[in-house]
Amino acid sequence: MRTSMSARRTRCLLTVLVCGGALLATAAPTPAQEPNLISIAIHGGAGTLPRSEMTAEKEALYRAGLEAALDAGYAVLERGGSSLDAVTAAVQLLEENPLFNAGKGAVLNHQGIAELDASIMEGKDRRAGAVAGLRHVRSPIELARKVMENSPHVMLVGDGAEEFALAQGLALVPNEYFLTDARREQLQRKLSRTTASSQQRREANDLSAFGTVGAVARDRNGNLAAATSTGGMTGKRWGRIGDSPIIGAGTYADNASCAVSATGHGEYFIRSVVAYDICAQMAYGKMSLAQSADVVINHKLRQMGGDGGIIAVDGDGNLVLEFNSEGMFRGARSSAGRREVAIYR
Ligand code: ASP
Repeated sequence: MRTSMSARRTRCLLTVLVCGGALLATAAPTPAQEPNLISIAIHGGAGTLPRSEMTAEKEALYRAGLEAALDAGYAVLERGGSSLDAVTAAVQLLEENPLFNAGKGAVLNHQGIAELDASIMEGKDRRAGAVAGLRHVRSPIELARKVMENSPHVMLVGDGAEEFALAQGLALVPNEYFLTDARREQLQRKLSRTTASSQQRREANDLSAFGTVGAVARDRNGNLAAATSTGGMTGKRWGRIGDSPIIGAGTYADNASCAVSATGHGEYFIRSVVAYDICAQMAYGKMSLAQSADVVINHKLRQMGGDGGIIAVDGDGNLVLEFNSEGMFRGARSSAGRREVAIYR
C-alpha cells in the first residue's frame, strides 16, 4: 500500500514536471548518467533451428549455455575486471559448449574437418588480434588475444598461427576433439543436398549455415571490447575464411563509438564491412547505436541478400542486439537492471 502510494506520488510529480513544459527528472537514470555502468551482450549465432524443430529440452540446453556465458562475462565486469577479460571469458565458455559453432562442436568443412577462426579487439587503443584456419587450437579466442598482446601482428593463419600457439604454451588438441555426431550428420545432410534442387539447397542452407559465438562489453572504466569465434559455415571449402576473424567485418571496437560482434553469412558481412560500418555511421553520421545497427543489418545488408545479425555496445553502455534472420541465440545483461536470454524474435 505504502509502495503504491509512493509510486503514485512519483508519477504525479513527474506529470507535473513534464506538463510544466520541461522534463526536470526521469524515473530511472539513463546509461549516460551512470559512468560506472557495466554491460555485456553475447550471441551464439544467427543460425537457430526452425521453431518447428526446437523442442523444449533443446531450448533449455541452449538457454542454459547462453546464461552461463553471459553470467561468466558479467561476473568479470562486476568484480572490476576489464571488458577484454569479460568478452574472453564469455566466448571461451561458448567455445567449450558443443551446442555452439565454435571450438568444440564447430561445423565441419567440405572434407569433414573443423577449421576455426576468431578475433578480438579492444576499444581503448584499437588493438586487435585475429586467427584463421586453425585445426588444433583448443581456444581460438585465446590465441587471437595472444596475437594481439604478444606479437607485432594483427592476424595469423593456419600453420603459422598454430606454431605461434605452441610457442605461447596454448593447449593444442587433435582435430577430432572438435567433432561431434550432430555436426557430422549436418555435413552429410548438406552434402547430399548439393545435388538436389535449388529449393532443397536453400533449405539446407537455412538450417545449417550459420553459428558463431561472440561477446561485447563495457567495463567500469568505460572501455569497450568485442570478441568473435567460429567454425565458419557448414561444408565450406577448406581454406575459406569468413568475416569472424576480419577486423571491421565480424569484429570491431572503438571507445569513441561502439564495439560489435557479428554472425551470419560471412561473405556478405565482409563485403559490407558490417562491424566497422555500424561504428562509422555513429562517428560520422551522428546516429545512435540502435539506428546505425538497424540501417546496416535491416537495410544495407538485407538489400545485398545477407542474412544474420550483430550484438553491440556503445560508450554509454547501451546494448543493441539486431538481426534480420528468424532468430539469433543471444543474451544481454547490465548493471542498469537488464537481463535477458532469447532465441527467436
Ligand atoms: N559469420 C560466420 C562465417 O561466415 C558464420 C556464422 O556467423 O555463423 O564464417
